Amino acid sequence: MFIEVIGNSGSKNADSRLVCMKLGERVLIDAGSAAFVPEAELDQIDVVMLTHAHLDHILDLGFILDSMISRRNRPLVVMGSEACLCIVKKHYMNGLLWPDFTKINVNGKPILEYRIITDEVWKDLPGDVECMAVPVNHPAGARGFLFRSNGKTVVYSGDTGPTDKLWQKASEIDDLSAVVIEVSFPDSKRNIAIASDHLCPSLAADELSKLDRVEVPIFVFHMKPWFATEIVSELERIPNEFNLLQPGSRIEFC
Ligand SMILES: [Zn+2]
Ligand SMILES: [Zn+2]
Repeated sequence: MFIEVIGNSGSKNADSRLVCMKLGERVLIDAGSAAFVPEAELDQIDVVMLTHAHLDHILDLGFILDSMISRRNRPLVVMGSEACLCIVKKHYMNGLLWPDFTKINVNGKPILEYRIITDEVWKDLPGDVECMAVPVNHPAGARGFLFRSNGKTVVYSGDTGPTDKLWQKASEIDDLSAVVIEVSFPDSKRNIAIASDHLCPSLAADELSKLDRVEVPIFVFHMKPWFATEIVSELERIPNEFNLLQPGSRIEFC
């Protein structure tokens, strides 16, 4: 199993791509820049797992559905918390801002199917991978995820401020092989990170100390692109080995 980064950024400028990652060949985690997934690969995707309904994580969902509708003969399943899916339905694909694809059928079935994910239970996903959603400290129905495949587990923070349950769940796992964690702001903007339920390097170090696994590699994403240089210089303080996720980065975890 692998995670391949399509987009890594927590906001948008001319040089950045919003958050979207492939989890194996059949699942996307978030859809901020999903329109950058090549068409042939997109056609293999069965499920989009949404961490939450903020625009940087859902923006391209409507555009990939628009592109799929003339080629696809099965639904795209969009999974997330009840609150997250409610926001997407009510404020994005509502037949006003963008079409309601649950009302557009192919082969007698809607092209889009929403599915609420139950918290804190393991769920099978396509492609021999399991997922557990865990509520985190961020708006718009946010969840972090644990992904497990072939005896290896990755913890994926999604967007979050300081939180406990996710690290508690991750601590219970012996085969933890990677931590994917958001760091949105530099320490000089720690007050904004706290106010917006995000992390800066010092807050991320506090979160990782809750997990207390210095041997596990850390993968950082979701930087505001205009702060990237400042954030990277501050990340050196994190005790774990860390890697910056960029478009094209790949985490192999089995
Ligand atoms: Zn975000
Ligand atoms: Zn967010």
